[in-house]
Amino acid sequence: MNCIFCAIVAREADASVVHEDEAVLAFLDIRPFTPGHLLVIPKRHAAGLGTLDPEDAGAMFRVACTIGAALRTAPDVDGVNLLQADGVAAGQEVFHAHLHVIPRREGDGFGLRGPLPSMPPRAALDRTAAGIRALL
Ligand code: 5GP
Ligand code: ZN
Repeated sequence: MNCIFCAIVAREADASVVHEDEAVLAFLDIRPFTPGHLLVIPKRHAAGLGTLDPEDAGAMFRVACTIGAALRTAPDVDGVNLLQADGVAAGQEVFHAHLHVIPRREGDGFGLRGPLPSMPPRAALDRTAAGIRALL
């Protein structure tokens, strides 16, 4: 399998590593949205949410929280976004699951763009909730 993140885990490709444990690797994104933007990945390959081992998902999120909280203590960091893209339509480019940890500074210009959200009536929200419950 030709997976750049598996190659990074195997140290066959370079990366600037921030954290490593038995389940998870965290390293700087090669094209950072903001300075310090990093990726937290499970060492075990999974393309996305549908095949991600729940233990690995938990380990990935725990490490992202720890790193995100640590980043918040840096004097120039005003906030942090955690972001996972799952599927091409969501912007996923690397098909090895990963959580982006994006340090935010006032006025850095990063953001999710989209149409302004409306506020649907409760009945519509309830119908949507029922549809999602049926998928679980
Ligand atoms: P996605 O769009 O799949 O959520 O994000 C993939 C991320 O991986 C992008 O932000 C991209 O810059 C990063 N990336 C792609 N190739 C490499 C690489 O070889 N090394 C590192 N460190 N990051 C990469
Ligand atoms: Zn992989």
